Amino acid sequence: MIRPVAVIGAGPFGLSTAAHLRARGLPVRVFGDPMVSWRAHMPEGMLLKSTPAASSLDCPQPGHTLADYCAAAGIRGLAGDEDVIPVETFIGYGEWFQRQLVPELERVRVVSVEPAGRDAGRGFELKLDSGESFVARAVVVATGLSGLAHLPAELAAAAEGGPEAEGPVSHSSWHHDLTRFAGGELIVVGAGQSALETAALAAEAGARVRVVARGRGRVAFGAPPWEQPRLRPESPFGRAWSLWALSYCPHPYRFLPEPTRHFLVRRVLGPLGAWWLRERFEAAVQVTDVERVLGAAAGDGGPVLTVRTHGGRTERLTADHVVAATGYRVDVAAMDFLGPSLRTHLATSRGAPRLGAGYVSSVPGLYFTGLPAASSYGPVMRFVCGTEFASPRLAGHLAGAHG
Ligand SMILES: Cc1cc2nc3c(=O)[nH]c(=O)nc-3n(C[C@H](O)[C@H](O)[C@H](O)COP(=O)(O)OP(=O)(O)OC[C@H]3O[C@@H](n4cnc5c(N)ncnc54)[C@H](O)[C@@H]3O)c2cc1C
Repeated sequence: MIRPVAVIGAGPFGLSTAAHLRARGLPVRVFGDPMVSWRAHMPEGMLLKSTPAASSLDCPQPGHTLADYCAAAGIRGLAGDEDVIPVETFIGYGEWFQRQLVPELERVRVVSVEPAGRDAGRGFELKLDSGESFVARAVVVATGLSGLAHLPAELAAAAEGGPEAEGPVSHSSWHHDLTRFAGGELIVVGAGQSALETAALAAEAGARVRVVARGRGRVAFGAPPWEQPRLRPESPFGRAWSLWALSYCPHPYRFLPEPTRHFLVRRVLGPLGAWWLRERFEAAVQVTDVERVLGAAAGDGGPVLTVRTHGGRTERLTADHVVAATGYRVDVAAMDFLGPSLRTHLATSRGAPRLGAGYVSSVPGLYFTGLPAASSYGPVMRFVCGTEFASPRLAGHLAGAHG
């Protein structure tokens, strides 16, 4: 019997990779809940920061771009850089792409992945939460944001209990419906797009919202497309040589020194609100710049956030709830479906898998794409448009080595 390739994940990267592998004629089994990060872990009413041109899932078959979906679904007004995509439209696009190109998707969880034997070439044994086990010749991990929400230590203690708990502090990914904060006071910690958009949406839903941002003047917004410098090359993220190089030439990225790679992943395309959010945000949200957030604790009337001001004073800010929009951090140790022997043998760099050509990890046959590949292939892997570079190369390498 021919062993299939297992793709774990049905978000943009998993679906795009699966489409490429299928087009090469490889038997593939794909697992996951399609577009669940977008449906359940981002706010309702959100608009995408990426432009329509940078929001397609890559595949070798023509006719499956976001524009093709919009034409098929009768959705207009998403053609230019100044057009903004509602998250609901993007979810509809991802689900349509899945039905067309990955119809055999299995909506089950992979519970564990272990080497199938001592020899590297024997493949991997996967256990599913349906109770089934099988052996795959190769595994692609495309689990994206799942399980990687990052709460800094100073906020983590007050968020104990995780997404199911009604604690005083939560991570932004635990919320889809922000109307739950209507009528109350909300503090949002962070200065990235997720923080600023969560704050604006909660304020529009009727909450009194304050963003607490670390650093002076940290809350900032990008320039609209028509104000971007014309003499610099265009990239999916705006006009700049650095953005162009990171978008279209991520190959040499993995040869940069480790500190540079990690710095660029955090900082390039880092905390900056989308141009179209500025007016809505400034009309409805207060900003408090602080030097540091020192901690959060449950008080009598709600959480108390302790901060150090730029003047060196310690202040206590109160609210009914604190949302930490503090992003995601890749850590192989948090990927609990990878068996202990794999996790201990994987070469990592600050917790992220170290990947070679074709997105293969140090364990032959085990591939990573999307966010976990960002420290090897650069910040473009954090965005949907990264599928254009990643998916054909991963599929090509895998077909060559395990086809
Ligand atoms: C608030 C917010 C806004 C964003 N806006 C944009 C934007 O405008 N444009 C952009 O390009 N990017 C944006 N991003 C980044 C975007 O989320 C990622 O680029 C994209 O979702 C990554 O896709 P993915 O396929 O790697 O993972 P995900 O979309 O996170 O999908 C993960 C998949 O893995 C599956 N899975 C996880 N564990 C298992 C398991 N054990 N077994 C089986 N399946 C499993 C899940 O069911 C799911 O199908 C945003 C992110 C956030 C947080």
